Amino acid sequence: MPSELPENGFHENVQFNEYVNWDALNFHTLMWARESPRHLKAALDGMIEMKSQDLDFGRAIHAKILEPEIFEASFYVSERCSAIVQSGNRAGQACGNNSKYTDGESWRCGQHCTDGFEEPDSVISGDKAARIEGVAEAIDEHPVARLIEFGHGFEISGVTELMGETIKFRLDKMVTGLRGAGDLGNAIIDLKKVQRGKANDEKFGRSIEDFSYDAQMAWYCDAAQSIDGIERRAIWLIVEDDIPHAVNVIIASDATMDIGRHKYTQWMRDYQRCRERDSWPTIETDIHVGGHTDYNLRKWGEVLQMHDFV
Ligand SMILES: [Zn+2]
Repeated sequence: MPSELPENGFHENVQFNEYVNWDALNFHTLMWARESPRHLKAALDGMIEMKSQDLDFGRAIHAKILEPEIFEASFYVSERCSAIVQSGNRAGQACGNNSKYTDGESWRCGQHCTDGFEEPDSVISGDKAARIEGVAEAIDEHPVARLIEFGHGFEISGVTELMGETIKFRLDKMVTGLRGAGDLGNAIIDLKKVQRGKANDEKFGRSIEDFSYDAQMAWYCDAAQSIDGIERRAIWLIVEDDIPHAVNVIIASDATMDIGRHKYTQWMRDYQRCRERDSWPTIETDIHVGGHTDYNLRKWGEVLQMHDFV
């Protein structure tokens, strides 16, 4: 149920569930405009949801790194199912499956869950907890840890006007007026957990395009600046969510931010135009020849010439 919006400005200590219900446009909804107006409409109507399991793991990592007390207070680490198997060649042994139900003392898997066992709100498996621990240690050893420590507001929320629309946003970490940090004294830090091998500049650079991280950062920085007038640098804190937990920290270049700004501005205009006309077209194609992108065709151009296939 959409609830009333708080007034324009930053809001700290807002629960995620409360924020979700604020009736205002957010970036992840707007981003669907990139696919087509009909995708955007579906997102606006709440027909597109993120997979919750991944969301939980991501949120747990965010909490652990950005606000450890919240992590301790709101996430349970499950143990293996301790039910004794009754039959088969493992009879008499503990089940040992991943579990998510507890009676406060022991844990049970879905198959062995009985009365008195319940699923806590946010439960993560022991395997994942170990990975989260690894992420935290890797970041602790990096100079960026100091910025995180100073920054206030774990997932600080905001409401403001952008291009005439009421929008909302939620920042992983916002740094304001940190002395001795140069132009990073005012910054917005976005934590990105990535798969093993995806943290380097090359791979993350591709993700910036694939997932529109540039537009997201421009949107965050512009939204925050519209509230307090402070221009902030955008910092991606990228960490592998599995061993060896490589950490990479990238300050978004001016060109990257400009491209991002161009993207979200375009989507906002599309959104406003479609809403005005109440027309939300989708992509339409006939059966056609296709394949590689122009980029890849250029990359493989020499090979095509070399073999003289045609
Ligand atoms: Zn079991």
